[in-house]
Amino acid sequence: MRGSSLPTNLFSEMSKRDYYEVLGVSRNAKPEEIKKAYRQKALKYHPDKNPGDASAEAKFKEAAEAYEVLSNPEKKSRYDQFGHAGMSNNFGGGYGRGMSMDDIFSQFGDIFGDAFGGGFGGGFSGFGSSGRRTSRRVNKGSNLRIKVKLSLEDILNGAEKKIKVNKYVSCSSCKGTGAKDGSAFRSCSTCGGAGRVTRVTNTFLGQMQTTSTCPNCGGEGQTIEDKCSSCYGNGIVKEEEVISINIPAGVQEGMQLALSGKGNAAPRGGIPGDLIVLVEEIPHEKLIRDNMNLLYDHHISFPQAALGTSIEVPTLEGKARIKIEPGTQAGKVLRLKGKGLPSVNAYGRGDLLVNINIWTPQSVSQEEKDMLQKLQESDNFVPRPKKNEKSFFERMKDVFN
Ligand SMILES: [Zn+2]
Ligand SMILES: [Zn+2]
Repeated sequence: MRGSSLPTNLFSEMSKRDYYEVLGVSRNAKPEEIKKAYRQKALKYHPDKNPGDASAEAKFKEAAEAYEVLSNPEKKSRYDQFGHAGMSNNFGGGYGRGMSMDDIFSQFGDIFGDAFGGGFGGGFSGFGSSGRRTSRRVNKGSNLRIKVKLSLEDILNGAEKKIKVNKYVSCSSCKGTGAKDGSAFRSCSTCGGAGRVTRVTNTFLGQMQTTSTCPNCGGEGQTIEDKCSSCYGNGIVKEEEVISINIPAGVQEGMQLALSGKGNAAPRGGIPGDLIVLVEEIPHEKLIRDNMNLLYDHHISFPQAALGTSIEVPTLEGKARIKIEPGTQAGKVLRLKGKGLPSVNAYGRGDLLVNINIWTPQSVSQEEKDMLQKLQESDNFVPRPKKNEKSFFERMKDVFN
């Protein structure tokens, strides 16, 4: 069963939600309505309001992606006609899977208007709330990858996990600047502080101008005279930190959650990298996961199958008792609706499927043998499957649909 849970991404194409549903607007909503709906969602799930919350971040990205399509008349009409399939790369238009936080802020930064002006949110990912890009190159810290082990109970409810990591943080001696004291910076002599150098070359087509990152300062525009001795001028040091991560309910083995800005700090005050959380599932003692469903195998005795009984079944929320009707056949699958798992990409919960097996004794006493032989003679014990009884394969098809 585990084999069917291929590594999936939160934003896999297969399970994408409808863009209109994501923004909560009707299919004939006017552009102003779409913009208003997006603004509301974006403010609600803004990362500054939900720090470290991966599910809010996923919703924030999902809304931005929906808005990117529905706010563009050409993309919107393609989406209306072909759905998500119309948005794939090979359809032209170069539409990638998901948007990065940088994309969202540089494209839709305006939508936040005054709500995130001033100090609040202004510095997110190195872009102002207006989405303006600074001309100097900004250092980006490296991504930090960690694994998190989750039980099915964690996956059912979502979980907050505290994880100890060894990561680069801003150097406290120099406040991340890399310089021994604040005055030890000087403008880069090669590029004059611009961070870029322009070269003019003569070619047979005329003069050509090329601009590239300054090799002396690496694009930062300044160099350090006296380096900080704690971090050797890097502005970052390695430290142990306990990170608290909110895991949304319904995640699956192999999924990756990206928490932007929670990775390694960047040298000399740039944008921190992302924290990539890889989900690992701890197998349950009794239940087997199949996407949103849970499977459980139970054996009853032959007399119980004939007379009917009630059995106790483990669920992720304690035990449940279910009734076995008299005359139950082996291979009967009983469904406990809504006792499965939620999904990060869909509403509702899956089911718990109980597969009923019938236990045949492996040795019998002489007395039992006599009784069984007597039963065998009864016409009632001759197998006669009903004509309309579904085959094993049909039953399996029903269960997994
Ligand atoms: Zn330092
Ligand atoms: Zn330079």
